[in-house]
Amino acid sequence: SSSLLIVLTLLVTLGIGAFLAKRHAELEQRVDRLKNDLISLASHEFKTPITSIKGSVETLLRRDAQWDEEFKRELLEGVHEDIGRIQELIDEWLDISKIESGVLHVSLEPLRVRPIVEEAWRRLPKAQQEAAIFEADIPPHLPLIHGDKNRLEQVLVNLYTNALRYNQQQPHIRVTATGDERFVHIRVEDNGIGIAGDHLDKIFDRFYRVDVTASRLTGGTGLGLAISKGIMEAHHGRIAVESKEGTGSAFTLSVPLYSLHDGDNDEETQNF
Ligand code: ADP
Repeated sequence: SSSLLIVLTLLVTLGIGAFLAKRHAELEQRVDRLKNDLISLASHEFKTPITSIKGSVETLLRRDAQWDEEFKRELLEGVHEDIGRIQELIDEWLDISKIESGVLHVSLEPLRVRPIVEEAWRRLPKAQQEAAIFEADIPPHLPLIHGDKNRLEQVLVNLYTNALRYNQQQPHIRVTATGDERFVHIRVEDNGIGIAGDHLDKIFDRFYRVDVTASRLTGGTGLGLAISKGIMEAHHGRIAVESKEGTGSAFTLSVPLYSLHDGDNDEETQNF
């Protein structure tokens, strides 16, 4: 029976070895995909603002030219905007890399829903806030959620930005929330262009955009919803969408209730 034991141990060891090798290969594949995406991101998205910064700076540096103050200011404002765009790309890239490699960190604490919904709206540029109708209809006695304030606000800012961006009328955003025995569901509804059914299941994939030409003009990267999904999964929550082309979309964030958490997992690193 001792030889049986040896054979069994050998088999188990081989099994674990094969399993680990497979995990390793999967991880390597992921890293390869990330690298390829970074190359395509670098070549498409970074090139435009960098080329334009270079052009403006070269113009300003020309020795023979005598630019008036207003023109110089215009060029510098353009440079400032382009740098902002590059920063945004880097931040999004870092987030998506953390999500893909399973190390996105969330600091979970008990939170009230209404302040997050409103604070996220105040994070948008003033001009965008003023151009839209924003309505938050959050019941006062909702249970506390178990969330990372900054990360949840980031998801909401992303949903609000999309609601404004993919809209051809005066944007109208309505946020509502309901609770059940496990989650609070935060619903963000817009009167935008909507999303056709055959695109709906793909918009959470990174780099997926329904209309690539249009989103180049509006400045999207196709990473926002992929990051939002990763953040919601790190919360053990969900993000879902309903939409009707030409009428509008509604995104629902489901965040676990604070009362259900087990007490010692407030610092979490996502792993799936
Ligand atoms: P992007 O940076 O392109 O906005 P996202 O990941 O945030 O990337 O969204 C992916 C795509 O889903 C968008 O390019 C757009 O086509 C579509 N989309 C997202 N939100 C909305 C919305 N509220 N209304 C209509 N289309 C949307």
